[in-house]
Amino acid sequence: MEQGLEQGSGMEQSNRAVIPIKFQLPAFSILLPVPAVLRLGLHVIVAALAILMTLISAAAGQEGEGQNSMQDQDALQALPVALAVRVSSTPQRARLVIDLSETSSFAFVSLDEPRRIAVDVRVSGSRARDRGEAAGQGLIKNYEISMIGEDRLRTTLLLSASAQVQQAYVLEPFDDQPARLVVDIIGASDEEFSARVRADREAFLAIAGQKEDAGGNQEGQDLFRAEMDHVSDAPGASKVQSDSRPLILIDPGHGGADGGARSPDGVQEKEITLLFARELREVLIASGRFDVALTREGDVAVMLEERVQLARDNRADLLISLHADSFEDTQIRGASVYIRDEQATDVLDKVLAENENKADLLAGFGLGQSEKSEERLVDILVDLMRREMRRQSFMVGLSIVEQLRQSVRIRRFPMRRADFFVLQSPDVPSILLELGFLSNDLDVRNLKSEQWRKRVADAVARGIGAYFDGNGS
Ligand SMILES: [Zn+2]
Repeated sequence: MEQGLEQGSGMEQSNRAVIPIKFQLPAFSILLPVPAVLRLGLHVIVAALAILMTLISAAAGQEGEGQNSMQDQDALQALPVALAVRVSSTPQRARLVIDLSETSSFAFVSLDEPRRIAVDVRVSGSRARDRGEAAGQGLIKNYEISMIGEDRLRTTLLLSASAQVQQAYVLEPFDDQPARLVVDIIGASDEEFSARVRADREAFLAIAGQKEDAGGNQEGQDLFRAEMDHVSDAPGASKVQSDSRPLILIDPGHGGADGGARSPDGVQEKEITLLFARELREVLIASGRFDVALTREGDVAVMLEERVQLARDNRADLLISLHADSFEDTQIRGASVYIRDEQATDVLDKVLAENENKADLLAGFGLGQSEKSEERLVDILVDLMRREMRRQSFMVGLSIVEQLRQSVRIRRFPMRRADFFVLQSPDVPSILLELGFLSNDLDVRNLKSEQWRKRVADAVARGIGAYFDGNGS
């Protein structure tokens, strides 16, 4: 019934670590030419950055005055409260965390003389201390917190060196953890910092001008929203800059006649993986940082070889294969990330036996064509490349696990190894994400929940982002 059963060999001692992945090749499959994956040129800037009305005064060196006297009291009371503010800092990076009673919107801006980054979040009040030293030493010297008007908490981070926001996001409450605004900051060159300050100021002035034209004297939420919208579209806004976006190839497992695992109530794995793939694509594209493609767009069969080939032919920077398999032990649940087992039988070695393929491989890696007399050298290089890809796969896996851990239930040993055929590209970092198990009722409920999937997609996207930040320069 199940052809092509692949065995996993787990990292942990448990004899439960072997997870059979079911896939079926169509009985009379024909090798189709691999279609080129289109790189999506969409460029949506969603770095939630806004330069707010009050920041004009901050930029000009005056502190903002409360300007929301006409604020609707009901709207104000609906806003969350800031519970605590924490800043940790090393010479390379820093993180600001604001605990919130509920999720809220936020904005940030870079300012100079002195160099600082101001982060505003919409809240009705704060229980946090009004200033503090950053824990650790490094990028951030100290910080100050103040309410700007009735509906905004500003945290001003005083920088000891040029720095920039790497990513900023709001986490939903989870278990006993409150909602959180997290702002990650990394070092930048002085030029980068100055350019950011300028861009923020210009974007702000453009908005201020438009407001005057509109004769707008809006207050409160409308104003905030309008500014958010404008600044999000403003050229030169402080988004994370990158000249060429990495291509993320998302591989929804199974498809067509191969439905994959099935929950007791009839949900098929192939449906879940495709749904999640689309959602993850949206989040990644919205970040403005990635090109994204899927190995399948609909309910069609795609052979494993083809999935691997798609990643290689398109020079994907990451292949992320999605699954939600079944397990005989119905207690097993939670998300996990697989990379390929170093010890596993290497099917691709057969292909690599042909010199041409090796040369092709190396060309793809930017090493150029080698002479046949250098066969041995080629072997060594291919081996090195493969090791490097496994190392990269491990790094990206870790990065994703790190983010998942903060958002959803994950398995006790979430970073796992197994011999998955689809992960064998020698030149594309590849990971397999088991979203959960269709054999576990609680997981099934999660997998069917759009809200849960969104939370996972957000976490995975952050993990991918962090991985590429670490490898960017
Ligand atoms: Zn599967």
